[in-house]
Amino acid sequence: EAKARGRSGWCFFEAGMDERLAGSLRIETALRQAVAQGELLLHYQPIYCARTGRLTKAEALLRWESPQLGWVSPGRFIPVAEESSLILEVGAWVLEEAIRQVAQWRAQGWDAPVVSINVSARQFAHPGFEALLHTLLQRHGLPPRAIELELTETLLASDQEDLPALLHRLHGAGVGLSLDDFGTGYSSLSYLARFHLNTVKIDRSFVMNLQEDSRNHSLVRAIISMAHSLHLQVVAEGVESALQRAILQAEGCDYLQGYLLGRPMPAEQLHARPLALTEAQMLTAPEAH
Ligand code: C2E
Ligand code: MG
Ligand code: MG
Ligand code: MG
Repeated sequence: EAKARGRSGWCFFEAGMDERLAGSLRIETALRQAVAQGELLLHYQPIYCARTGRLTKAEALLRWESPQLGWVSPGRFIPVAEESSLILEVGAWVLEEAIRQVAQWRAQGWDAPVVSINVSARQFAHPGFEALLHTLLQRHGLPPRAIELELTETLLASDQEDLPALLHRLHGAGVGLSLDDFGTGYSSLSYLARFHLNTVKIDRSFVMNLQEDSRNHSLVRAIISMAHSLHLQVVAEGVESALQRAILQAEGCDYLQGYLLGRPMPAEQLHARPLALTEAQMLTAPEAH
């Protein structure tokens, strides 16, 4: 009896310790089982057309509840996975789960939003990536246009030999390609011209302090105008206030994503969402208070 109590006490204490002290190694060890044990799931964050208010896209965001570590944020475990080949396994799971979900929504008769999937540099550089993507699309009967890949500047900066050709093929097949966290990496401008991309996502750090006549306002205006002149669409991420939304709409930003419009949510909740924002939610003038 004492043994049983001691044991459960130890487990409880251990779980509390882990939250503070979990190192990368612990995360890596736990993550190794996560895929097989079904501990991963995807949430979806709505992305709205800034002009019409329609729910046109959604970003798939990975969530992990580990029995040992509790909820671990992707900002914490993705970099750990990227240190090893674990990212290949995790990334493949994300790819299939997102594709499966969109196929299911369509089978349910929903004209589901285009789902954008985050792809790590190492995953994209793997020689099997393109074939895997097409296999999964075929397996679930989904056209390439139903999804989009979110690539980072780090990925585009890699010396992956066939990178331009690969992007060209994916683009040609109809897979949307967007550049995530735009403005946070290196020499972003040259990438915009060099590669076949569809969309640029303005990083949250530029949207965060967006006020009229601020430096970020000028930057955001310049990014949108440059992207448009290269025939790229623009998503603003991290839209949290009505003022930010109003400025982005006024500057001609194409899509809005952020807590103001909706947090990442389970698939069923996204499906239950209205197909468009209400007029009040679209109002260009920010509320007085
Ligand atoms: P990201 O791709 O730039 O995703 C956007 C992040 O910003 C998400 O964080 C989202 O929840 C958060 N966000 C959205 N709107 C707002 C807002 O209005 N305010 C604030 N403060 N945050 C907002 P999350 O889900 O924690 O993901 C963090 C990062 O982890 C992602 O950044 C992405 O780089 C990575 N990640 C997530 N899922 C995956 C995945 O399946 N594969 C890969 N390779 N990376 C992933
Ligand atoms: Mg992203
Ligand atoms: Mg992003
Ligand atoms: Mg980001």
